[in-house]
Amino acid sequence: MGKEYETVIGLEVHVELATKTKIFCGCSTEFGKEPNSHTCPVCTGMPGSLPVLNRQVLEYAIAVGLATNCDITRYGKFDRKNYFYPDNPQNYQISQLYLPICRNGGVEIETKEGGKKTVGIHEIHMEEDAGKLIHDEWEDCTLVDYNRSGVPLIEIVSEPDMRSAEEVIAYLEKLRLIIQYLGASDCKLQEGSMRADVNLSVREAGSQEFGTRTEMKNLNSFKAITRAIEGEKERQIDLLEEGRKVIQETRRWDDAKGESYAMRSKEDAQDYRYFPDPDLVPIVVSDEMLDEIRAKQPEFRTEKMKRYKEEYNIPDYDIEIITGEKRMADIFEETVAVCNQPKKVSNWLMGETLRLMKEKEVDAADLRFSPENLAKLIELNDTGVINNTVAKEVFEVMFDSDVSPEKYVEEHGLKSVNDEGALRKTIEAVIAENPQSVEDYRSGKEKAIGFLVGQTMKAMKGKADPAMVNKILKELL
Ligand code: ADP
Ligand code: MG
Ligand code: ZN
Repeated sequence: MGKEYETVIGLEVHVELATKTKIFCGCSTEFGKEPNSHTCPVCTGMPGSLPVLNRQVLEYAIAVGLATNCDITRYGKFDRKNYFYPDNPQNYQISQLYLPICRNGGVEIETKEGGKKTVGIHEIHMEEDAGKLIHDEWEDCTLVDYNRSGVPLIEIVSEPDMRSAEEVIAYLEKLRLIIQYLGASDCKLQEGSMRADVNLSVREAGSQEFGTRTEMKNLNSFKAITRAIEGEKERQIDLLEEGRKVIQETRRWDDAKGESYAMRSKEDAQDYRYFPDPDLVPIVVSDEMLDEIRAKQPEFRTEKMKRYKEEYNIPDYDIEIITGEKRMADIFEETVAVCNQPKKVSNWLMGETLRLMKEKEVDAADLRFSPENLAKLIELNDTGVINNTVAKEVFEVMFDSDVSPEKYVEEHGLKSVNDEGALRKTIEAVIAENPQSVEDYRSGKEKAIGFLVGQTMKAMKGKADPAMVNKILKELL
């Protein structure tokens, strides 16, 4: 009782690579198409068909390995992991057990206390994804779609170096950013292009040995991962406190119920009868290939943050948020390249963009408006063609469907009315119709002018410049 426990966590992260075609055949990897329309004898496991490795898969895997400080295996191979399941038409998955493409890496994360810590990467290997089973309760049957069968994956296996949910999230964020910056995947947890299995054990604080671990699957958001870790930690501590043992097993986390349940006992490598795949030639990574990939590595976040500070002179907070998403950083840089107004571009991203992303639940990776259109909008606003209110209104339409702001303003007659004469007439009418407010203002209630400005803007359908309305109102009153 009252014992202190430490949580030990290691992750197995699967990432779907953004190649156009599958890992061992020429079928498209495109998502959401008619079931079984992207299939061929190779990815449906027909006898006699022969796999050929997609070079882009190897390049992405190496690029991720270099970016995570791994050693690259120069002479590697693929192995067959044998098991029967209807989503696995070959009865084996082509994976890498003995000679994974990358080993002995690690990434640095920031801990809650503000310190830094390295999470080791045991290995990264390449493998193929399985098909998808669809359980149709209506027809009381199970259907299978092999479009995903043979989609390339890398599996990144960490060392058991994490000690809390915060560290796990920091590690996943770090991986996600590196991979997004490389363009190797969009890493969307919700859509399954990034999936994390959490291995967790607890031990008495100060103990040198690891406790027995469980593995949790089915975690598709950072929030679910955090809840699953908290839940599993409690469950294991309770078992130990009762003098019972943790059983090594795979558990499925039910996020709706907030509890996990046992799926199957943990299988060992020998259960899969791994052996080298005789259909694939060994993977030889030449010096030239490594140099080529190294030369193509992009600017990563730390360097980008430094450059933004020197080049754009925007606040640190803006830099932090913008470089925190590859797509944001791309939009930012491309828009600034067109309009050369870093602070204004940053304001649109930090303000309206973040607000609408939250309101409409849109991922940064799915932002649709083009840098050209954002630059144009800024120009229209700057030159007084449209006022701030209208600019926001147009931006929202751009956010949804990337319309040209110029065209939209034109077609909807949203240009500011800069004709002082017309404005003056409207204001005179507003004054005439609202004697009470006029009276209030004249007797010292400064606030009353706000109402009159509002009425004028309404009469002008929002197309007047509020500063100008204010000025004329004050003159006339
Ligand atoms: P297996 O080959 O059985 O899947 P691994 O040694 O490859 O086991 O480990 C799988 C994952 O589990 C790795 O991410 C590793 O860091 C993690 N892990 C291993 N032992 C423990 C433990 N005692 N507690 C928590 N995580 C662990
Ligand atoms: Mg494993
Ligand atoms: Zn195919």
